[in-house]
Amino acid sequence: MNDTWSIPGFTEVDVLGIGGFGRVVLAKHEESGQMVAIKYLRAEYLADARIADGFRREAWLLAGVRSPHVVRLFDFVETPDGAALVMEAVPGVSLRALLAAENVLAPESALAVLKGSLLGLADAHAAGVVHRDYKPGNVLVSGQGESKLVDFGLATLDGHNGLTAGSPSYMAPEQWSGQPGMPATDVYAATCVFYQCVTGQPPFRADTTEGMRALHQAAPVPLDAVPEGLRALITRGMAKDPAWRPATAHAFVTELETTARKAYGKNWEKRGWKRLATSAAALTALTPLALLAGAGTAAAPVGAGAVAAGVGGGVGGGVPATGAGATAVIAGKIAAAVLIVGALVAGGVAVFGNHDDPPPQAAALTVAMQTETGRDQALPVSYDLQFPQVSGGADPAVRQRINAALRAPVDKRLKAIRDGVTSYRDMFQERGDTAAAHTKAQILLRTPSLLSVRYQHDLDSDVLSHPTWRFPEMVNVDLGTGQALGPKDVFRPEVLTAAGMATLTQRLEPHTQSGFRTVVSVDGDGRKTDLDAADSVDGGDHVPAASFGFTETGLQFELLWYELGATTADGQETVTVPYGEVGDLLTPKLLTMVGKPGAASSASASAAPTSASAPPSSASAPSIEQTPNGPTYTNPRFGFTALISESFVPAPYSPPNGDGATFSNPDTNSTLTVWGANSSQSAAQTLAAAAAAVEADGGRVTYRKDEGDRYSLSGFQSDGKIFYERGFTGSASMAALRWVYPAEDKEQFDGLVNTTVEGFKPGDLSRPH
Ligand code: ADP
Ligand code: MG
Repeated sequence: MNDTWSIPGFTEVDVLGIGGFGRVVLAKHEESGQMVAIKYLRAEYLADARIADGFRREAWLLAGVRSPHVVRLFDFVETPDGAALVMEAVPGVSLRALLAAENVLAPESALAVLKGSLLGLADAHAAGVVHRDYKPGNVLVSGQGESKLVDFGLATLDGHNGLTAGSPSYMAPEQWSGQPGMPATDVYAATCVFYQCVTGQPPFRADTTEGMRALHQAAPVPLDAVPEGLRALITRGMAKDPAWRPATAHAFVTELETTARKAYGKNWEKRGWKRLATSAAALTALTPLALLAGAGTAAAPVGAGAVAAGVGGGVGGGVPATGAGATAVIAGKIAAAVLIVGALVAGGVAVFGNHDDPPPQAAALTVAMQTETGRDQALPVSYDLQFPQVSGGADPAVRQRINAALRAPVDKRLKAIRDGVTSYRDMFQERGDTAAAHTKAQILLRTPSLLSVRYQHDLDSDVLSHPTWRFPEMVNVDLGTGQALGPKDVFRPEVLTAAGMATLTQRLEPHTQSGFRTVVSVDGDGRKTDLDAADSVDGGDHVPAASFGFTETGLQFELLWYELGATTADGQETVTVPYGEVGDLLTPKLLTMVGKPGAASSASASAAPTSASAPPSSASAPSIEQTPNGPTYTNPRFGFTALISESFVPAPYSPPNGDGATFSNPDTNSTLTVWGANSSQSAAQTLAAAAAAVEADGGRVTYRKDEGDRYSLSGFQSDGKIFYERGFTGSASMAALRWVYPAEDKEQFDGLVNTTVEGFKPGDLSRPH
């Protein structure tokens, strides 16, 4: 193993940079003549598992990001002699070199670089990747007026810990305290670099790392040297609390554009890039990349599907490595994707190398609260509005729809208040009144497929003092499509009728403080009531339409008292009905989304519009017996037994036609669900249905195995967690177990999963129960 290894088929032209973990060279692909940048990991580090893993992670993460603002990865090569990333060669210089030569950039140029970087970060975030080491050396500025991010060596999947480190000058407070990377961490670093671009110095300087930490964590940003028009932008991006930063890099771009236009006119970006391009081109002329000038960046020179990795071990047994390599240079056993994918619990094959076919990934969605505050100039209106926004996720269009749905209540609210103030303008003036709007948002439930949010709208105003100006509002978003759920998505069709409403009212009544005085009706008193009015666009005046949400335990209604039949409009009540009592009124899809697929059958049969022969519901908690092998749960109905780990708390679980229990451990964020069900399906059919359900929910199946009378499947849920399911099928029933746990704790769970699999006894599967 030495540092002279290079990928066969490429001729080294020059060295572009020598960094912490290796060298970056400009090289020519002999066959195609294409120039590429190759980042070699230093030989000594290949033997250091932590660093080598970090390097593989960089490859894997980069492969998942597709953006004109992020350097493109063509291939990742690892052999026993060395490892390297083959990337597009960016014809330009690093921002670090640019700052060394110029010290400060024109504000428009600094804004242009920040914008390009934020767009690159936003694309990385959309792929679930946080950079964590944004600094001038990792931003390339080309002579052709674009910037690209490089060096994802410290990057992590959103919300996960990677190697801890960063560059002290640009490290966010939460990074100093060791928290996992989040999109807002990159926004902070990008703002620090922006500060340096406009002032010539990073925002904080100290002699020691500890001093640096203290400044980032507690000192106000010194804004004197910053042009006045840019101060607010820096304050936003460098807020100490990540919740106060723009929720996404994309959101920050919008703020940046408004600021830039206001301060430097509408041609700011063009001017900014023009100046930069001149400097960048002049500097590039001095580097080997001058060879590329004008060449632009072209297609991948390397064959498709170059790298294949076989993954063994795990609970289900391995699949032998499959060499799908078209490129002869790739040889040897590559663990690359494996360690990061982490997920190929039960074996499988990961192939990547061609950027046009990036590896599938968990693309976790992150939810963060955002607050918008301000004061209107034309009207006596001030506002302080909170709403959640998401980042990450596989599909940017879906993410955009989700964010639009989550933001809609505050936009609508502000508009209603402005309209209200406008119509009473004289009174506001007379009394010197200001309408101060406050909205607080609260996440009621987050599952892999659903986000349920409650907004409490309050208003301080003498003129607009009527209590109907203050009310709660709920928004429930389907995270798979980005659509807000309406009553038709939530309630079965027969519920949205006069008779169905009467049934719903009956179910609600025992949970209200004093009962209803009128039945919630489809068409009460000429004005539609909340529930069904949700399908009309506005639900009448400024009162929002839908006012039901979902919690861990039940369906939550926000009832305004006048809908309960009270004569005064003043007051409201929050009513939560357990899923077990209304499951039969809700659509099966909704029940799956809230994670209670079995609740339909356990609802009280008496009032159910479609009361079939519901199996007896076992309300009492499943019981656990201590045996010499450990705690054991025996299902009374299906007769299966399962070994349970210590400190897992049991709760009943009722799948369709079945019965079981869920054991959860909140400390490790893991669950084990065991169940039996009447079924005449084969293992292959059950397996196919289970896999289809996972995929319909946005998850990913990475392993499946049909063994005739049993099956296993595993992969990722859409929230990034690993699931592992093993089922046994007979002629009349089936029994199964399913583990769900965080991907990063895979190793910790391997043993537990194996033990339960071995200890699971399916019972008599030849008769219905
Ligand atoms: P390190 O982890 O060693 O910091 P980087 O990925 O940041 O490695 O690369 C080091 C330097 O090499 C960069 O600052 C840049 O000047 C140059 N470089 C890296 N990637 C490219 C590329 N794709 N095209 C052109 N130059 C690059
Ligand atoms: Mg670097």
